[in-house]
Amino acid sequence: MIRALILDLDGTVYRGAEEVPGAGDFIRAMRARGLRCLFVTNRANRPVSVVCEHIRSYGIPCEPQDVLTTAQAAAEYVGHRRTYLIGEAGIHEEFARRGIPLDDAAPKCVVVSFDSQFTYEKLHRAVKLIRAGAEFIVTNPDAWLKMENEIFPGTGALAAAVEVGCGIKPVVIGKPERRLFDQAVSVLNVPRNEILAIGDNLETDIPAALRAGLHAALLLTGVSTRADLARSTNKPTWVADSYAHLAELIANDPAIHNNTGGAAAWPPSPHAPTPANHWIQSLALQRHPEGGFFRETYRATELLSAASLPPRYAGDRAMSTAILYLLAGKDFSAFHRIRSDELWHFHAGDGLRLHVIAPDGAYDEIRLGPNAHVQAVIRAGHWFAAEPLDPTSYALVGCTVAPGFDFADFELARRADLHQRFPSHFSLIDRLTR
Ligand SMILES: [Mg+2]
Repeated sequence: MIRALILDLDGTVYRGAEEVPGAGDFIRAMRARGLRCLFVTNRANRPVSVVCEHIRSYGIPCEPQDVLTTAQAAAEYVGHRRTYLIGEAGIHEEFARRGIPLDDAAPKCVVVSFDSQFTYEKLHRAVKLIRAGAEFIVTNPDAWLKMENEIFPGTGALAAAVEVGCGIKPVVIGKPERRLFDQAVSVLNVPRNEILAIGDNLETDIPAALRAGLHAALLLTGVSTRADLARSTNKPTWVADSYAHLAELIANDPAIHNNTGGAAAWPPSPHAPTPANHWIQSLALQRHPEGGFFRETYRATELLSAASLPPRYAGDRAMSTAILYLLAGKDFSAFHRIRSDELWHFHAGDGLRLHVIAPDGAYDEIRLGPNAHVQAVIRAGHWFAAEPLDPTSYALVGCTVAPGFDFADFELARRADLHQRFPSHFSLIDRLTR
């Protein structure tokens, strides 16, 4: 089930002075069905109240809690660290509201956002402070910004000047990175596979959604076209010409109404005192898009740069990541592959079976559990699926990935494609794909 929506603004809710046709009706219909709608924007220069007022001007009801900007997300990321802040009213108000101390002499962070009063003096100070060890943070990488029908150089242009000056890459909060959407997930407080992010930009909205593990819908009402889609490696869950088309696609997608696949009977009740439910609740696990329950428990703060990684990686990656993962009953982790090696560690329960198909078709079954292996390696690029030992059992495991996990490196198998490639494993593929 989809229980919450993340909506981009420019090109998705409005275009210039006009509402994107059907946006207001779609949002009202979704809210009437109990879905929360969060408007999420890369722009950091406008206070939330101004963003709200703008959305209301199209006749769409909006309260401050319905908006998340990169100013808010950057403030959340900074925490209470002393900051040298380049930006306009929106971000200054947000930092002041949270009591984040500003410091232009010896800060821990330098935050760069859109600033029409950007000067050489500010550039010089930012470069000097970052070179002295302050963390370099950019609200959003947008190269340009459209205001009142005129194009202005955006935050990305200012950040590029700072980056060239100091030779250090920034932490980027906004789309296409995932941090803004990760914060949207905590605001919505809904499992990631029950959130749909809707946007008009294939190069920002869609990769941010996929990296954050959300469903993604591309609306062809703004910058991206079907021709862009054919060229891009970013593949949204749905592509729609209009809001009416999108509503139809969602309504007719069986995966959305039963996105636990074969696990419809699991968990029997959220309060049933099974050992698996105990772990799900005590470890705060959430449903995983490929089946089972998980929580990311570790993400290295140091990055491996794209230049230092093999060409199969499309960007920088955390040095390593780890999740806790629980699989129970008739649920299964469907065949998928990633671009890094993945280490599985058994923690608790009855155990599980891993089914691995190498690129040359060689098959291996690995059992993890108290009477089997306690650790297993799945090599990068191998297709694999997992299932409990039997429908009454469960397993709690850990999965460590290095270089770290990124949804851009994750590929869920299409049943027909795997059947064609590995016909000798037909029934296994049939059973463990959705
Ligand atoms: Mg847009």
